[in-house]
Formats: sequence, structure tokens, C-alpha cells
Amino acid sequence: MPNPLLSLPYESALADLGDEYYDAVSPAAFPKHVLRFRNDDVLRQLGLSPNEVSDRNWIEAFGQFQSNTSGHPALALRYHGYQFRSYNPFLGDGRGFLYGQVRATNGKLYDFGTKGSGPTPYSRGGDGRLTLKGGVREVLASEALHALGVNTSRTLSLIETGEALQRGDEPSPTRSSVMVRFSHSHIRFGTFERLSYLKQPDLISRLLNHVITIYYPHLLSIEDEQTRYAHWFTDLSERLATLVAQWMTAGFCHAVLNTDNMSITGESFDYGPFAFMDEYDPRFTAAYFDYSGLYSYGNQPGACYWNLEKLAVALAGIVEPAGLEAGLAQYQPTYSQVFCDRTLTKLGISPQLATHLPAGQQRELIASTLNLLEQTHVSYPDFFSTLTQQFEPNWQTDPTLILSATLENSDAEAASLLDQWRQRYQICLSQLPPDQIQTVQACLRSTNPMTVPLRPQIEAIWAPITEDDNWQPFYDLLKKVQHPTLV
Ligand code: AMP
Ligand code: MG
Repeated sequence: MPNPLLSLPYESALADLGDEYYDAVSPAAFPKHVLRFRNDDVLRQLGLSPNEVSDRNWIEAFGQFQSNTSGHPALALRYHGYQFRSYNPFLGDGRGFLYGQVRATNGKLYDFGTKGSGPTPYSRGGDGRLTLKGGVREVLASEALHALGVNTSRTLSLIETGEALQRGDEPSPTRSSVMVRFSHSHIRFGTFERLSYLKQPDLISRLLNHVITIYYPHLLSIEDEQTRYAHWFTDLSERLATLVAQWMTAGFCHAVLNTDNMSITGESFDYGPFAFMDEYDPRFTAAYFDYSGLYSYGNQPGACYWNLEKLAVALAGIVEPAGLEAGLAQYQPTYSQVFCDRTLTKLGISPQLATHLPAGQQRELIASTLNLLEQTHVSYPDFFSTLTQQFEPNWQTDPTLILSATLENSDAEAASLLDQWRQRYQICLSQLPPDQIQTVQACLRSTNPMTVPLRPQIEAIWAPITEDDNWQPFYDLLKKVQHPTLV
């Protein structure tokens, strides 16, 4: 039986761009392949049903990287980037490559990008490998974020590969894996920055036209080139601002917001030392090596704006300044709008219900919610899951019923803050039409997760894997994060 994964509708869009953008590489040969995760949800997007594809097929395609019908070899992509604000011209796919590009049933082109598939010309002495724990963490992050409505890459597969790796940040030797990511594109801000650094404007133009043609095709009808470029940059700015607002309202800290981790499609990807935040704290920082908190939870909107400014610098000379400025100017208002919409939605007030509330009152409710969370050091996911579980329609008329059990168990200072907050919340609820109060409940139940993969939860599933090779707790947690809400 031929392997259906090797004969998907592969295309060569990136390969056809020219070899100035990549290097052909060979995958590592691994001593063993044990399939730990296959994403049948993504498989369906590719037009295949899970029972058509055996585990052996997965391993041949996404562990052994057998030749697919794209007709081109694995391609390590070239890029540079700003890492913690310093320019690094020695980056590039150092442990990954583009295995193929595939047209999904929605008509869009997706990348199969690997992580941990062996060294490349960009490995800089690294082993080109991914730890099993790193792979498990990326599966959990991407599946959790996807379920929470964040525009994220997916993890297509995770295969354990039987090597012993040495790492400074994990007890070593530690187990190895290879992962395949399913994403809209692996073209990064840093892909453009490299070409700007190398002073190759023709290659920038070619890449930009490629990005617009494939990932922003709705702009192709704009005849004037500069107008098209300006619209594209604004579109990207809005996508990025939207993404950051999605992270923030998911309580997610990406941790490594370098420009090589910024996708040109505005999609979130590459989950290393990420963390979902427990106690609400804007200064919460996920990466142990982020000493100054540059990429803390609360700094994410500003950090991504800084990255967008750097991209604008790389595009100067190709895109006229007015177009770049217009795009940059769109970032903050888009961020505020999406952040407000999503925070209100977490409080049960969907954008449609919010039309009943004056804008000032919406803003005050959001500010007072964040202030309550920060002052009381409450757990961000717990606050919203508790609100969801305890919600009663009679909260609309009586503020003293709101989170009454929580208030009773709070110390005097927290109780007073909670009391002020719930009065404000009740005033907002009281302005909604009474027949809409069930809609608030439905909104809470379909928005707020009951489980997010906080660090202790991830550590708790990791212990049985390392001690007994028991994967059941991982699969149990995965199921919960894939279906995190009550409806
Ligand atoms: P990341 O922090 O995963 O975004 O990677 C930053 C850069 O380091 C990229 O150029 C990676 O390809 C490279 N890199 C990270 N880990 C390894 C490794 N184990 N071997 C080779 N290159 C690596
Ligand atoms: Mg990266």
C-alpha cells in the first residue's frame, strides 16, 4: 500500500523562489522511532481520514522523512534575527527544515516544518536535536492555544527517536524526539532582516511578492504596487496585534519574542520555554535566561511592536515610508480593540452583548478586573473558571450573590476589592436585556478553559514518562487541553 502522507498535494512554492533562500539538507538517521503523538485533526484538514493512515506511514513520512512527491529535498531556511534586541546574523534553521508544502482542503498552503531533524549549515555546533520534553511541551502549547482560539501553528507529529541528549536545562542525558509543525509559513521577520543585512533588495521584493501572493491573496487585486504593499503591512500589523491580544487573554507568555520567532503570516509558533501564567502578574517571565524580563507577560504587546518596527526598517526602500508608518499606527488600536473584546468575552459579555454597554463602562470593567487580579494575586485561569462555574442568572439583580463563597474566604483587603469589583460587574450585567442573561452564561462556558497546561501540570505528566515510560497522564492532560471549556 502506498503511503498517503508521501503523496499529498505537495507544492514547491518556496523551493521555486530560488536557492538564495535556503540550503538543501539531509535528515538525521535515528536509531529508533516511537510515535508519541499524531494529530488526526490536522490530518482531516489535509483530506485524509485517520484510518487511511497507519502509524508506520507517519513514521516513514515524519520520522524518516522519506521522499515525498514535492520532488525537492528538505530545505533548511536562511534567516537572521534580533534576539533580546541584539542582531544575530548566525541564525537559520539549525535543527529543522521544510519537509514539504501542502495544499489543505481549505485551499490554503501549509508548511510541514521539522524540529529536531538533525544538523544543518546553521547548527553552530549544536546537535540539531529536540528533547522529548521539548516536543511534549510544544504539543501541549500548540493544542491548548488552538483550543483557546489563538492563531497558532499546530503540532502534526511527535516521534521519540532513541538518542541520549545532553542539555543544560534538563536533567541529562535526556530523551530525544523529532517533531513536525503544521503552519501557514516558516517565513519570519528575520527572513527579511537577513536580506536587508546582506543588502539584497531584489531578493526582498521577490520574497515580499511571494508572501502576498500565497498568504495575502486578497490584496492581489490592488494594482498599484505601493498601495498593495502598504495594505499588506497594515494587514500584518493587525494580525500581529490580534495575536498578541489572543496570547494575553489566554494568559500565555511566549517567552522568546525574537524576530526569528515572528511569522510573516501573524501566526504564533515555536514554543520553547513558554508558560501559561498562574498568579496574575504582568511581570511574569517564562524563560529562565530572560534576566531583565524583556519578554515578560506584560511586555509582550510592546516587544512585538518593537519587532514590527525592525521589520519596517528591513523593508525600507521596498515599501514607501508612508505605507510602513500607516501599518505601525494600526498596531495599538487593533491590540486595544481585540484585547477589550476578548477580556469582556471572558467575563461573559460577547461583542454583541457589549453593544448594550457604554464604551466607558466597558473600559472601567476591564481595568477593574485586571486591578482585582493583580492586587489579590489571584490565579488568572482560576478566576475565570470559578466565575464560569458559579455564574447564576440572579447575579444580574443582586451583586452580593456574585462569587459570594470566594469573598467569604478572602482576607479583609481582598474581600473589599472583590466587593467593589462585583458591584461594577453587576452594574454591567444589569444593563443587559434580562432575556440575554443566559447568553452571558453560555459565553462564559464556551470561552473559559477549565484546564490550562500550567507548569506544575506539565511537570506532573513528565514524571511518569521519565520514571515508568507511562504516557497515560500525558494523553489525559492533552485531551483536557484540547477540549478545555464546559461546552
Ligand atoms: P530557537 O530558540 O528554537 O528559536 O532557536 C534559535 C536558533 O538556534 C535557531 O537558529 C535554531 O535553529 C538554533 N538551535 C536551537 N537549538 C539547536 C540545536 N540543538 N542544534 C542546532 N541548532 C539549534
Ligand atoms: Mg525559533
